[in-house]
Amino acid sequence: MFFTGSGSECNDTVVRMVRHYWTSLGKPNKQTIISRKNAYHGSTMAGASLGGMAFMHAQGGLPLPNITHIDQPYHFGEGQGMDANEFGLERARQLEAKILELGEENVAAFIAEPIQGAGGVIIPPDSYWPEIQRICDKYEILLIADEVICGFGRTGEWFASQTYNIKPDLMCMAKGITSGYLPLGGVMVRDHVAKVLTDADTEFAHGFTYSGHPAACAVAIANIKEMQNRNIINQLREDTAPYFASRWSELLEHPMVGEARTKGLVGAIELVKDKQTNERYHKDLDVGTRCRENCFNSGVVLRAVGDTMICSPPLIITRDEIDEFIEKAKLALDKTLADVSQ
Ligand SMILES: *Cc1c(COP(=O)(O)O)cnc(C)c1O
Repeated sequence: MFFTGSGSECNDTVVRMVRHYWTSLGKPNKQTIISRKNAYHGSTMAGASLGGMAFMHAQGGLPLPNITHIDQPYHFGEGQGMDANEFGLERARQLEAKILELGEENVAAFIAEPIQGAGGVIIPPDSYWPEIQRICDKYEILLIADEVICGFGRTGEWFASQTYNIKPDLMCMAKGITSGYLPLGGVMVRDHVAKVLTDADTEFAHGFTYSGHPAACAVAIANIKEMQNRNIINQLREDTAPYFASRWSELLEHPMVGEARTKGLVGAIELVKDKQTNERYHKDLDVGTRCRENCFNSGVVLRAVGDTMICSPPLIITRDEIDEFIEKAKLALDKTLADVSQ
């Protein structure tokens, strides 16, 4: 584990780690990192470069060299009319096509969030991750899971890599490691990589003053113990998340909701003008932003990513609180529909 102070620092760290790893093994050309459009990996130079958000690349001369992006597995947004699993396979196979295009000898790693968070809670089709894993196993490239949102229980396991049966070589974590009470992040590194990075001849020259800060680490330990003592993840997996999924799916009955999806305790709804065709509202109407304002005014926190409304409730939310959450979200949707109908 290499400790950092944030998720962004984790992602800056993995760029140097994987490139240095391959250079140490005598393969200095293996430098390119493949990521995905609309990914979010933080706001530092490497974090924002790995991220696939064009509006972030436009600020500050990004992306850094030798970082490239394939399409995301966003079925509702980009795969309408196609079977979800077929779409998932197609998107995963873009990784293979990109590796072959660049040449395996030039590719260091693939990085991805198991579920894209800031990009709009994009839950990949079931076919996606097994195919990505197959491709990473077939070619000699490292797999980096950015677990900054998904880690520490969010999907009903400690890590979403367990939920999706992913075997990452490196794993970035932050946020939930302390439940946000103090800043702490870390890159967990599989033994075969760690061995190279700690070899005396090629030792990795990387360190932050606040790496492993004792106060932040004490908070992380207290947080993890509390999660274990209260059995929070089992409770979430066995009860809270299924209940949340069933109540969240009711939002699909609303006239302006084209899709409602959840995994564990993250959820998204897609706002549409026409449920038959899933046609979006004109972007000048800023329907997502209006909906967000109506949510805040109704006492519920949903974030707008374009016209996708996303949420990430506390892991300890109760059934009663979920009921309240859904009722308030419905009110906010009604208010938004009334606003845009005017
Ligand atoms: C929040 C986030 C980051 C950045 O973490 P910071 O602590 O804000 O630097 C990186 N990756 C993912 C997936 C995130 O959600």
